[in-house]
Amino acid sequence: MSTEAQIAYRNELLAHGLLHATDVDGLYARSGVFEDIALGIAALVSRNGAAEKPEVMRFPPGMTRGTLERSGYLRSFPQLAGTIHAFAGGDPEHAALLATLDRGEDWTSGQKATGIAFTPAACYPAYPIVAKRGPLPADGALLDVQSWCFRHEPSLDPARQQLFRQHEHVRIGTAEQVLAFREQWLQRGRAIIESLGVPFDVDVANDPFFGRAGRMLAANQRDQALKFELLVAITSKEKPTACCSFNYHQDHLGHAFGLRTADGATAHTACVGFGLERITLALLRYHGFDPKAWPDAVRRALWG
Ligand code: ZN
Repeated sequence: MSTEAQIAYRNELLAHGLLHATDVDGLYARSGVFEDIALGIAALVSRNGAAEKPEVMRFPPGMTRGTLERSGYLRSFPQLAGTIHAFAGGDPEHAALLATLDRGEDWTSGQKATGIAFTPAACYPAYPIVAKRGPLPADGALLDVQSWCFRHEPSLDPARQQLFRQHEHVRIGTAEQVLAFREQWLQRGRAIIESLGVPFDVDVANDPFFGRAGRMLAANQRDQALKFELLVAITSKEKPTACCSFNYHQDHLGHAFGLRTADGATAHTACVGFGLERITLALLRYHGFDPKAWPDAVRRALWG
């Protein structure tokens, strides 16, 4: 359910031409102004991590279906996952498809699953690539990744889009290495959002795991402080929006993808994600709809 405040903010964004709505809730086109902000945030995050020379990877919105299956996403979030289907018939099936289309009926039932699934989290496509190289070097792996992500959760809240971008740094190595990385980025994430002049809180969080078993997973995630979120009140103080997340996956993804440390143990992983659309929306909320009128310090942080 979208709140009145969320719908009102969405209407303002549309009226200012920052986003263009479609017939599908949560699916937007972005204006040049919106895009400049989002790209400025991505560059700012990359600059903050550049000293450690991460390996850069940029992903398309889709990854292999096998990666989705191995990630465990279908076990935890079947309601959010999306797969890509395509026509796979001959002439008779094509004629049937066109006839169905002409009748205004659902033409998609003949579509077959392709080998591509939508990427639900920007770090997933990186793990099989790193695993394929064999055991990690002693200092592990460090990546700077960005992907379009899909989550099937139609909403009128502009901060809950179905296709959006995550900019992440990802650490793969021993438990000590990845926990030190997450701690470092908890500080950096705070400093980055502070430099943008947006008020925030950081808190322990849990993912929206599916179903009855999911409630236990969520409680466990909180108890072990596996996930922190940086929260900004974009349309509500009571229900602030997670703009960054700091995640420790333990050795779950290491097992799933066969990631090994130098001494052959299963690797641990952590990722820190910055939601480019959400941080853009937070900036527009706190500094107004015209970035030319934003405080100099904020403009310098984004665009130098
Ligand atoms: Zn991630």
